[in-house]
Amino acid sequence: MAEKKLRQIAIYGKGGIGKSTTTQNLAAGLSEFGNNIMIVGCDPKADSTRLLLCGLAQKTVLDTLRESGDNIGLELIMKQGFNKVRCVESGGPEPGVGCAGRGIITSIGLLERLGAYTEDLDYVFYDVLGDVVCGGFAMPIREGKAKEIYIVASGEMMSLYAANNISKGVQKYAAKGGVRLGGIICNSRNVDRESELLKAFAKELGTQLVHFLPRDNIVQHAEIRRKTVIEYKSDSGQANEYRALAKEVAENDYFTIPTPMTADRLEEILMEFGLMDSLKDDYRI
Ligand code: ADP
Ligand code: MG
Repeated sequence: MAEKKLRQIAIYGKGGIGKSTTTQNLAAGLSEFGNNIMIVGCDPKADSTRLLLCGLAQKTVLDTLRESGDNIGLELIMKQGFNKVRCVESGGPEPGVGCAGRGIITSIGLLERLGAYTEDLDYVFYDVLGDVVCGGFAMPIREGKAKEIYIVASGEMMSLYAANNISKGVQKYAAKGGVRLGGIICNSRNVDRESELLKAFAKELGTQLVHFLPRDNIVQHAEIRRKTVIEYKSDSGQANEYRALAKEVAENDYFTIPTPMTADRLEEILMEFGLMDSLKDDYRI
């Protein structure tokens, strides 16, 4: 039998864009294909795993260390959720105190020491907040942890601006090591010609649009029940979109060093796709 290869994947993107929702549904989809998965939440908000844990409170690594000291077992910081997906939340310092990235560094170190990276794992996901890749937030892609990155974005300007900035960080780390961009995941905001815009943006970045996820209220319906869409409405169209994303990620073999663009070039692309349409509306041309 061929040796199993662990894929460690970091998910980046602007705050609120849908990283945690997408990562958990992606993990749920991959788990249905029989994969063993761990998610490491790398956002001080600590909400990277709540849909998989269905309300089970996962105390963060930093809070656990603060309360119980560092002589602890893995079971205190890692719980199994939907389809046995293993869930960890790094947590962060109290707001305004210290560097939020520290939690990630501490967590990954502790997970390694406690033997969380077991041989049966197929995927580890790091759900990382932020508009830029720096300090502790670069940790998952530093020192050869996550070799694969996906950026969640929509057709909204600030999200593409953030995706471009994140790519600058990725480019820097890619030059030093083996980390590569696997593509852009579009989480739709119903922007005009969004899919074409994202394709053009991805191409300019030297990468691909991995999948286009529609915006759907079923995501909120699942969220208030603390479930992924895959668990909540397994036969829904949106659940199938997440499965399609899972398939794309599983079969992806296109990994590149991104080629970030200038702010002017980004605006040019936005003009080409969005602005012209809105001008047409304004002037009825
Ligand atoms: P992030 O982790 O990037 O900060 P979240 O995953 O927490 O973002 O998503 C922010 C909000 O957007 C959530 O409340 C979620 O319900 C909503 N959301 C995410 N993806 C979709 C979607 N495809 N359709 C509708 N709502 C979505
Ligand atoms: Mg999040």
